[in-house]
Amino acid sequence: MTDTCSHPHGSHAGIRGAALAAALTMAEARCAAGQERLTEPRRRVLELLLQAKSPLKAYDLIAAYGTEGQAAKPPTVYRALEFLERLGFAHRIESLNAYVPCRMEAESHSAAFLICDCCGAAQEFEPDFSGQLAAAREAGYAVRAVTLEARGLCAECQTG
Ligand SMILES: [Zn+2]
Ligand SMILES: [Zn+2]
Ligand SMILES: [Zn+2]
Repeated sequence: MTDTCSHPHGSHAGIRGAALAAALTMAEARCAAGQERLTEPRRRVLELLLQAKSPLKAYDLIAAYGTEGQAAKPPTVYRALEFLERLGFAHRIESLNAYVPCRMEAESHSAAFLICDCCGAAQEFEPDFSGQLAAAREAGYAVRAVTLEARGLCAECQTG
């Protein structure tokens, strides 16, 4: 992320307040439906991801974990991230080595991201890999998920 542009970076806010509470309640329900539990660390890490305006690295999450400024034990955060990724609540963006919450409300799925090189925002969209996945199946592969990362400038940063 570079701050070479002169425009403000404001439009990619995370969610807060009632929207945040609703998202966490929904996550709890989805866990319960799958016989899983949204334990306190899992819930806290998801909350931090939902509040963030750009992808967070594991050490950002560790540092921000405590509501009174105390850091988490790293394994707590890594285990929570592993869980959130497995259940499709979060995605890891390889090129940034950072995590974003999933906005799709779906089980684990293929994901694509538009990553802004200027403000660091990452927007998820649903890719259509059905043709490629069918070809992979024919070649004998069992593909679990595909992640596509597209780099460039978001609409806001292009106006700078
Ligand atoms: Zn997703
Ligand atoms: Zn941007
Ligand atoms: Zn910018």
